[in-house]
Amino acid sequence: MTDRIRVDEQATLISNSEVATGFWCARLLAPRTAAAGQPGQFVQLRVSAGREPFLRLPLSLGGVDPEAGWIEVIYQVRGAKTTALAALKPGSALSCLGPLGRGFAVPGASTPVLLVGGGIGVPPLLFFGHRLRQLGRSPALLVGARARAYHLPLPRLQAAAGTVLLATDDGSLGHHGLVTALLVERLAHMPEAMVCACGPEAMLAVVARLCEQRQVPCQVSLEAYMACGIGVCVGCAVAMRVAPDGAPYERYQRVCVDGPVFDGAAVDWGQP
Ligand SMILES: Cc1cc2nc3c(=O)[nH]c(=O)nc-3n(C[C@H](O)[C@H](O)[C@H](O)COP(=O)(O)OP(=O)(O)OC[C@H]3O[C@@H](n4cnc5c(N)ncnc54)[C@H](O)[C@@H]3O)c2cc1C
Repeated sequence: MTDRIRVDEQATLISNSEVATGFWCARLLAPRTAAAGQPGQFVQLRVSAGREPFLRLPLSLGGVDPEAGWIEVIYQVRGAKTTALAALKPGSALSCLGPLGRGFAVPGASTPVLLVGGGIGVPPLLFFGHRLRQLGRSPALLVGARARAYHLPLPRLQAAAGTVLLATDDGSLGHHGLVTALLVERLAHMPEAMVCACGPEAMLAVVARLCEQRQVPCQVSLEAYMACGIGVCVGCAVAMRVAPDGAPYERYQRVCVDGPVFDGAAVDWGQP
């Protein structure tokens, strides 16, 4: 797990452009966050100096360069905060609180890693994939999207993994169907793997169940709707399960400080 170094620094936007349909990538000069940020952690950006949007925008670290002092975030334009961020031009200043939360744990050297991303869940996996590659590992990256246009550019995915497998709901690129089908295939050949996943909650629930059935360890990064990001408002609490041996997990945990990365088997996903 990761150290708790947190700073609120004035970041400067270096670049901000659309990289896939509706998906933008922003690079910010934020040297203190870049120096401390770990894969799976996130930042809270204040995207406007005015009163609206009121809340900060939580975004996963998609990459960092501690030497150059930048961080990268990849985001889907959805509502007021992401629309405001997409409108900012290079040179803009914005407050960046981070790095926040607990990131991914690096498994032992003999454990192959399967990174499974859906939709906007891919950015933290890219950062984790880069980190694993720096450590001499060769993770596989499995990514699902609605259609070809919603996939991040292939070179960006390939830079983070030794193997990249794509799926689309409409069959316009890669496997025609859900990314979880690719995971089932992979796990059949790699029962000793660890799975790290981020994406829509429905996808994560399936991934966690598949792993549990096969007794494969699984880390999931949850993107709960949140306000403060520092554990105070408890707006992002998620329900945890009671362990089979009777030892209870804490029933509720805060995604912002206890996560966003959790043991997939610990989360209460509800009824299948
Ligand atoms: C730890 C963490 C990391 C995140 N990392 C990323 C990232 O790397 N890239 C990225 O694009 N987004 C990421 N998100 C999600 C992003 O912060 C939210 O989508 C945010 O609400 C967008 O703000 P907005 O004002 O543009 O849209 P909003 O107005 O807040 O939301 C627009 C629409 O999306 C729905 N919505 C928003 N968030 C969620 C959610 N979590 N679950 C279900 N529905 C939701 C809202 O109900 C609304 O209908 C992350 C969230 C968390 C908590």
